[in-house]
Amino acid sequence: MKNKIQAIMDMVIAKNQGEPEFHQAVREVVESLMPFIEKNPKYEKAKIIERMVEPERVIMFRVPWLDDQGEIRINRGYRIQMNSAIGPYKGGIRLHPSVNLSILKFLAFEQVLKNSLTTLPMGGAKGGSDFDPKGKSDNEVMRFCQSFMNELFRYIGPDTDVPAGDIGTGGREIGYMFGQYKKLRNEFTGVLTGKGLGWGGSLMRPEATGYGCVYFVEEMLKMKGESLKGKICAVSGSGNVAQYTVEKLLHLGAKVVTLSDSDGFIYDAGGIDHKELKCVLDLKNVRRGRIKECAKEFKCEYFEKKKPWQIKCDIAFPSATQNEISGEDAKILVKNGCIAVGEGANMPTTPEGISVFQKAKIMYAPGKAANAGGVATSGLEMSQNSMRLSWTREEVDRRLHDIMIAIHENCVKFGQEGKYIDYVKGANIAGFVKVADAMLAQGLV
Ligand code: NDP
Repeated sequence: MKNKIQAIMDMVIAKNQGEPEFHQAVREVVESLMPFIEKNPKYEKAKIIERMVEPERVIMFRVPWLDDQGEIRINRGYRIQMNSAIGPYKGGIRLHPSVNLSILKFLAFEQVLKNSLTTLPMGGAKGGSDFDPKGKSDNEVMRFCQSFMNELFRYIGPDTDVPAGDIGTGGREIGYMFGQYKKLRNEFTGVLTGKGLGWGGSLMRPEATGYGCVYFVEEMLKMKGESLKGKICAVSGSGNVAQYTVEKLLHLGAKVVTLSDSDGFIYDAGGIDHKELKCVLDLKNVRRGRIKECAKEFKCEYFEKKKPWQIKCDIAFPSATQNEISGEDAKILVKNGCIAVGEGANMPTTPEGISVFQKAKIMYAPGKAANAGGVATSGLEMSQNSMRLSWTREEVDRRLHDIMIAIHENCVKFGQEGKYIDYVKGANIAGFVKVADAMLAQGLV
């Protein structure tokens, strides 16, 4: 088995040189899938894994735009259309200076399995640009988004590929991209999700990833006869996912003691309350400031250039970015008594970190299962757009909750090992089977 894994990895590394994040994501999946594939040789014979690691299409393009000084700026745009076996391509657009092919391929690959887990008919994709919206005026962001869409519009559509938000792409950016798509196509369709409520958006979409992650962790705890009430939680990030993770944790009686951004983290030993959370939302979504400004307002501690994992907590919710929990961070978390990890971000734990959590046998929910509520609710937004109807907040929340419970059940089904549940294995196999069977049924395309 080791030889087979190595052969696939050698091929992936040779074909995708200098793309470490993509190699990392593939290795994690292939390692946990291989025992299952050996028992089901039809997948091996049809070379399903070899086909799944090759994107169906990679689009790379120039994005020229004018800054407020009249200078010409040039960024690079991407869309990785990874797999459309079970539905139109679907996945977010990341706007961050670190964006490159490696990061987008890892995200698109994860997205295929994640979308399959949601129970909804969505293929997997990811896109973005190395453009940094931070420090740009609204007009600059608009000109960038319009230029980005001037090229991307050729490759997307409500039945082809439906992009959404991700790091750096929130309601503002989706609005500018949607406006430009509509102008170019002369069509009002559900081509993007995460839209504003008055023009095709779904209630609960902003909340969905964070709420969904908390629902998933709640299910894990239930299996052990535990609940979130009174649990001390460390959350990283302070963007969309982190904000609504905190909100749901507060609803369920947990105590959240940290939030962060790329400059450092705040530690509020007394717990962040609803009033403080409102302040964070205003700071990050309106004033677009730094988390350290909250430390002054909340009179709490701020740790420059540090990550929150040194703080003692029961549950960790990494909700910022990839590889933010190293092996060392994981060891500190476990040593401090952490019993569960719910990944709001995509691949926030390094392979060394995952191995620490698994050896310690704590409950570890990988991003592709725990944060699938975001794309699931995007799928619900697509359904509402197709029907030209809007569901109530309660209706969308109920469906989101049911989907997270179903994902958890599926992970348990494929990941149970005696008393321990290997959620990585469970999520990978459950996500894989549906896509692989569709690929088998559809022939060599
Ligand atoms: P946002 O842009 O709203 O927020 C990102 C947060 O993470 C910010 O606080 C940001 O700080 C911090 N961050 C970003 N990069 C780094 C870094 N290199 N080091 C430390 N902190 C960093 O993004 P989202 O909340 O939407 O996304 C967060 C994560 O969740 C990502 O991994 C994303 O792929 C994943 N995700 C998001 C979904 C969604 O629906 N939005 C769905 C599923 C997964 P700063 O402002 O300083 O950059």
